[in-house]
Amino acid sequence: MILLGSTGSIGVNTLEIAKRFHLHVDILVAGKNISLLNEQIKIHKPRIVVVSQEKDRSLVEHANVLCGEEAILEAIENSSSSLVVNALVGFLGLRPTLKAIECGKRVALANKESLVAAGAFIDTSKIQPIDSEHFGLWYLMQNRAIASMTITASGGAFRDWDLKDLATASLADTQKHPNWSMGQKITIDSATMVNKMFELLEARWLFGEGNYDAIIETKSLIHALINFKDGSTTAHIANASMQLPISYAIMGRVDEQILTPVDLVKAGSLEFRSIDVARYGVWQIKEELLKNPKLGVVVNAANEASIAKFLLGKNGFLDISKDIIKAFEKFSDAPSSVEDVFAIDKEVRAFVESLA
Ligand code: NDP
Repeated sequence: MILLGSTGSIGVNTLEIAKRFHLHVDILVAGKNISLLNEQIKIHKPRIVVVSQEKDRSLVEHANVLCGEEAILEAIENSSSSLVVNALVGFLGLRPTLKAIECGKRVALANKESLVAAGAFIDTSKIQPIDSEHFGLWYLMQNRAIASMTITASGGAFRDWDLKDLATASLADTQKHPNWSMGQKITIDSATMVNKMFELLEARWLFGEGNYDAIIETKSLIHALINFKDGSTTAHIANASMQLPISYAIMGRVDEQILTPVDLVKAGSLEFRSIDVARYGVWQIKEELLKNPKLGVVVNAANEASIAKFLLGKNGFLDISKDIIKAFEKFSDAPSSVEDVFAIDKEVRAFVESLA
């Protein structure tokens, strides 16, 4: 496989699976965490390594080190590997997804921003999603008439906070996720509920038009539910670990134990909550966005630009949702091509950066 984002949360879990099942890694792509990358090189012995910064090249313990976004695309093109695991974070992951499909490769896709921004222009038959909610829906699907599909959210770091404290929430606060250990950006997205809105969009592109919604399940044991027309509801239950969706996405079928099964008696009880717009401001545009899923590019760009401001201390936590809503109100033209997606992404970022 070609693994993009090997040093991240999904990348590290993917390499665990690769080690366990003796899967060959042809290319490792990482950003700035060179010490972890060097450890991975020793174990997996890739043919090529790509890093983000020129200054780090000499620190990488490998004879064939490339650098930058173009190099990622070239490496994909020149590899004989038929599988790309895209675990990059952010819009940066879109071009590699498009390139992999163009080269006829299969994509195990964690980089949800690819589908959120450009789902209408991506051949999803070439994609296996790495996300517990979509894995759960796929696992539950049967040849029966479906009424609606529900995915679950944990509620993120602030689900039990007093609403009045949200305005002063810090970056460190956003990272205190109750159930999952993930990268910084998705953990912020989880606190704002942007992550769940993105997952609804992904579901729309992966499984087609339908009734999609989300609720909070506080223990993250249920990941997805399907409500069938006959009135039955089935739920996908598994312990919170990405190794299960990763294993299926890269191997197609898994007959060995990946996780310990959930002990329902130990869990004791489950609690469900609706997603409240007072706590998760961005949720107010959910319906409109699902009606116009191509506008995901606007929401994604606004989110990334506003998070960048939040990381620099230029805005507060609640401004992330406010910036997204302002951008969503301003940019209402859907892209009609991939080129449009890149153009709109740029415009929206400039707009959000200009907001006070
Ligand atoms: P992380 O932040 O942990 O990892 C991101 C990876 O991308 C790191 O390897 C990072 O390198 C690399 N990277 C960042 N910028 C560049 C760059 N310019 N060039 C090359 N590599 C770069 O994120 P996650 O693993 O948490 O998430 C990855 C994707 O998967 C996201 O889209 C997320 O939404 C999605 N996802 C994640 C889940 C999870 O459980 N974590 C669950 C479902 C989806 P480095 O660290 O070396 O700088």
